[in-house]
Amino acid sequence: MTSTLAMDDLLRRLRLGQLASQLPDLIEGARLQKLSYERFLATVLESELAGRDERALLRRMRSARLPLKARLESFDFAFQPSVSERLVQELAQGSYLETATNVVLLGPPGVGKTHLACGLAVRAIETGHTARFTTLRTLIGDLEGLGRRDVKTLRAYLKPDLLIIDEIGYSQLNADHANSLFELVTARYERGSIILTSNLSFNDWGHLLGDDVLASAMLDRLLHHAEVITINGRSYRMRNHIENDHPLTAGGGSN
Ligand code: ADP
Ligand code: MG
Repeated sequence: MTSTLAMDDLLRRLRLGQLASQLPDLIEGARLQKLSYERFLATVLESELAGRDERALLRRMRSARLPLKARLESFDFAFQPSVSERLVQELAQGSYLETATNVVLLGPPGVGKTHLACGLAVRAIETGHTARFTTLRTLIGDLEGLGRRDVKTLRAYLKPDLLIIDEIGYSQLNADHANSLFELVTARYERGSIILTSNLSFNDWGHLLGDDVLASAMLDRLLHHAEVITINGRSYRMRNHIENDHPLTAGGGSN
């Protein structure tokens, strides 16, 4: 019989180190249930696979860098009737990711744009996709002065199945920044989905980018395959401070 030590060594060399801690229980269970050799082996392999899937999920979740642990399940659609629950649930199925369709969430602060973006990202990650969250401010900081050969930084924004660019509209862009953003959107066009959130209407994008032609070229690519969700309800953050019969379209609260 193989000793525990030899077994640990074998598992480690086979890169099945995580299995070592589960093995005593699996063996005990197999004894009690009088499993056949085949059934026991299948149980062990299933346990290893489940562990790997779990670790990969955690890795994808960490590398997405989501700022909120928000899930779609905790979004109160009754509070925000301008958001179509049917559309969000349809997006949650994930087929938009296969067609590189974008999702644009528009609305004033506090209405749940970041929450919905993160909730969709969590769903995407749970169904095996990769995602990366960033704000426009962080993104342009990262892309600033990026040499053409500095592919690593760029890859972090190009490679994930889903890129979330939050808070478009809070920072005014100079010509370099506007061009970088345009190049990123162009590079992902028809290749990978972007979820974008903004407090601006599309008309203001020329001002944001400091260039009307660039803005319309960018919107053209972004909106060619896109679902736009315009939220014009009250700020959830302010819900306890405002009377229900005084709806506020531009809620308070910092973003
Ligand atoms: P925005 O990005 O539009 O400014 P957030 O998504 O950051 O708004 O929402 C602000 C806070 O309120 C977050 O903690 C979010 O989870 C919560 N929130 C917003 N809308 C809802 C909602 N309809 N149901 C539940 N929580 C919400
Ligand atoms: Mg937000």
